[in-house]
Amino acid sequence: MNNNSSLSHRKEEPENGVLYIVGTPIGNLNDISQRALNILKKVSLVACEDTRQTKKLMNKFNISNKLISFNKHNSPSKIPNIVKDLKKGKSIAIVSDAGLPGICDPGEYITKFVKSEGLDIVCIPGACAALTALVSSGLPSSSFVFEGFLPRKRIDKEKILLEISKNEKTTIIYESPKRLKKLLKELLEFCGGDREIIVARELTKKFEEHVGNNINEVIEYFDSENVIGEITIVLKGINKNRDLKVDKFSMKKDLNDLINAGLSLSAASKYLAKKNGVKKSEIYNLI
Ligand code: SAM
Repeated sequence: MNNNSSLSHRKEEPENGVLYIVGTPIGNLNDISQRALNILKKVSLVACEDTRQTKKLMNKFNISNKLISFNKHNSPSKIPNIVKDLKKGKSIAIVSDAGLPGICDPGEYITKFVKSEGLDIVCIPGACAALTALVSSGLPSSSFVFEGFLPRKRIDKEKILLEISKNEKTTIIYESPKRLKKLLKELLEFCGGDREIIVARELTKKFEEHVGNNINEVIEYFDSENVIGEITIVLKGINKNRDLKVDKFSMKKDLNDLINAGLSLSAASKYLAKKNGVKKSEIYNLI
C-alpha cells in the first residue's frame, strides 16, 4: 500500500499517512457509505470545501473530527501543510460540498501534488451528479463525454458547443440554475430542437425531477419557471449516419464562418457540400 514500504520497518521514521478522497452525498445524506463514515472518523483531519456544509454531514452521523477549509482560493497555501502532515504519518480526508472530490471541485488541485511526492491516495467512492444523471436519463451511457461547466467566454463556449453538436456520444454538462435557460437556447442554436436531452434537477433530493424529451420541450418547460436547485444536463449524441444531413445547425454555423472568412456563398457552399457529402443545394437552403 505505502509507496515507501521498504522503509516501514524503521521504527524511528513514521510511515506516511494516506490522502483519502471521500465521496459524500449529492443531496440525500443517507447515501453516504459506511466506509466513508469510518474514514471520516479515523483520519487526523478532514479538509472540506465549506466547513459549514461538511459539519451538517458530520453532525448527522455524530462524527466530531477536526475540519479545515480547502477551496479553490486557499488551496495553494493549504497544500504544502497537507503534504507535510501526510509525511508525518497523519492521514487526511478530502471531501467536497457534494459528490466525488475532484469532479469540478477543489479536490482536483491536491491529488497531483500528493502523487508527485510519492504519497498514497485512496478513493472512497460515492455519489457523483454526472453519473447519477446519466444512468437515470435513459440515454446511451456506455460511452460518454463529461464537459463539466462550459466556459463562460462566448468564443470558448461556441467552440465546445460546436464539438458537442457533432459528437456521437452522450454529453454531460453541469450548469447553474441561473444560467440554464441561456444554455438551453445555445444548445438549440447548435444542436437543433429535436435533439434528445434530459435536465436532471435536485438529484436524490425531495424535489428531484428529470425534464425531457427534446431541447424544444425542455425550453418550453423551464420558460415560465424560476429555475432553482442543482442542475445536470444529459444530451444525446448524434447518429452520424442518420443525423448528419439534418445537422443543419452546425452546418449553418460553418457556412457563416466561411463567409465571414471571405469566401463567397457559392464557394463556401461548394466546399461544405463536398466535405459533408451532401448536395450544394442543401447548403444553399440553409440560408
Ligand atoms: N463533485 C461533484 C460531483 O461529484 O458531482 C460536483 C461538484 S460541482 C462544483 C457542482 C455541480 O454538480 C452543480 O452545479 C450541479 O451542476 C451538479 N450537481 C451537484 N449536485 C447535484 C444534484 N443533486 N442534482 C443535479 N446536479 C447536481
